[in-house]
Amino acid sequence: TIDYALEAYRLKSQNKELLERLKKANKELDEFVYRASHDLRAPIASILGLINLAKTETDLDQLKKYLELEEKSVNKLDHLLKDIIQFSRNTHLEINSESIDFTVLINSVFDSHQFFEFSGNIKKDFKIIGDVPFNSDQFRLEIILNNLISNAIRYSDFNSENPNLFIDVEINKDWATIKVKDNGIGIDEDQMDRIFDMFYRGIDDNTGSGLGLYIVKETVDKLSGRIYVNSKIGEGSEFVVEIPNQNRLENFLI
Ligand code: ADP
Repeated sequence: TIDYALEAYRLKSQNKELLERLKKANKELDEFVYRASHDLRAPIASILGLINLAKTETDLDQLKKYLELEEKSVNKLDHLLKDIIQFSRNTHLEINSESIDFTVLINSVFDSHQFFEFSGNIKKDFKIIGDVPFNSDQFRLEIILNNLISNAIRYSDFNSENPNLFIDVEINKDWATIKVKDNGIGIDEDQMDRIFDMFYRGIDDNTGSGLGLYIVKETVDKLSGRIYVNSKIGEGSEFVVEIPNQNRLENFLI
């Protein structure tokens, strides 16, 4: 009888926890759909408005200006859609375990940012310590690094004489610790606990979606990792990500 009572109690607590998680997921989904559709509509409305203006415009210089504004809105739309696709793929795809070569991975993420606005001025480098096999999900690591690196570039300090971005990777049999450091504008202390929230933007420069760090956090969670940040306004930021080594977990299970 006691066993039954304990089991019933355990199931009830488990049920309660699952219900709470479901409520949270539903609330997040509602907010996500509302905000995403709102943020998708804004650039579309702006493009439609510009097309209307362009229809009756005869001055070529003015037409060029409208085209440039349209391009900005299309880029914004593209950025948001990419974020939504990343978010959805992270939620639905199975977790893979494959051998990770951090040199190849970081170089490929650096390459994909080489034509990013202002990227050319920023000195980028990395260092990898630890010669142990490391297994994880390549696609998810790419999502994490892509977002952190694009933020380090976008929030670099334009007045700095030597803007730089440095990635430190330390691998051991249990974890990979990845530090993405920049000497950019830094983050205000009172924004620190909101930067990982869905759609939170610290700066209203009309370039981002406010989803980047939320996706990073969700992706790190999916890999059972941890993320934290050290930052000082005017000095720069350091995002530290710790990802478990699947290689060890797999060997442990054999
Ligand atoms: P987005 O960049 O689209 O605004 P993110 O979720 O990637 O959205 O980032 C949330 C906020 O965190 C940004 O608006 C910015 O204020 C701040 N932030 C993120 N990364 C950095 C960084 N490397 N340096 C300074 N601020 C940052």
